[in-house]
Amino acid sequence: MQAQMPDLSARYPNLHVSHHPMVAHKLSLLRDKQTDPKRFRELVRELTWLLGYEAMADLTTRPKPIETPLEPMEGAELEPPIGLVPVLRAGLGMVDAMLELMPMSEVWHIGLYRDERSLKPVEYYNKLPDAATVQVCLILDPMLATGGSASATVDILKAWGAARIKQVSLIAAPEGVATLSQAHPDVDIHVAAVDRELNERGYIMPGLGDAGDRQFGTFAGPGSEPGHGSDETAEVVRRLQRSLAGD
Ligand code: URA
Repeated sequence: MQAQMPDLSARYPNLHVSHHPMVAHKLSLLRDKQTDPKRFRELVRELTWLLGYEAMADLTTRPKPIETPLEPMEGAELEPPIGLVPVLRAGLGMVDAMLELMPMSEVWHIGLYRDERSLKPVEYYNKLPDAATVQVCLILDPMLATGGSASATVDILKAWGAARIKQVSLIAAPEGVATLSQAHPDVDIHVAAVDRELNERGYIMPGLGDAGDRQFGTFAGPGSEPGHGSDETAEVVRRLQRSLAGD
């Protein structure tokens, strides 16, 4: 079936969908169910480089005097520090790629799990230091599905004192873009694609399946996240879809 991909960029100016042909090419390989976990992890890494590069286009630099082999000149260096906040567990696969781009980054872990029936985020781990110490935080999560975990993570980072926050995801559902944008319109969302919709089990359609299982080779079957296909899960998805339609 040919997917209808909604164009939400006009409605949500904070949404940035990459139009780079390399991103489109690699994303198709990532979606393909024949792609094995090793190649899947490589593609997550490559896509994170490309999206990370786009997401950091407006970071500030400061002058840095350097000497080339021929003469001194004024170079530039990124204003440190940058905070990376992977959403466990699928976001872990994006961390190394970002660290390769920006080795001076700090990595902060906030553990949220999605209650499998209500799809609501529950915090179980938070190791942020006392005071916000970074110029910008990048939340890393391959899939922006309901937007619940992303909004909750932004709530935690703002309460901590983070001034600038961006979400970097590979694929978003329209429902997730709406939830995060309505709660936090100041958070830029960088994605490779916005897909058609969430299904009644909370999966992004057509999507790529479970990004955690596909990276880590843990194919736990229909009982694994996201959702168990319960009535409650389906009702949460319907509520998000009604909210998006009436938005
Ligand atoms: N998380 C995933 O890994 N895949 C989805 O489709 C939705 C949430």
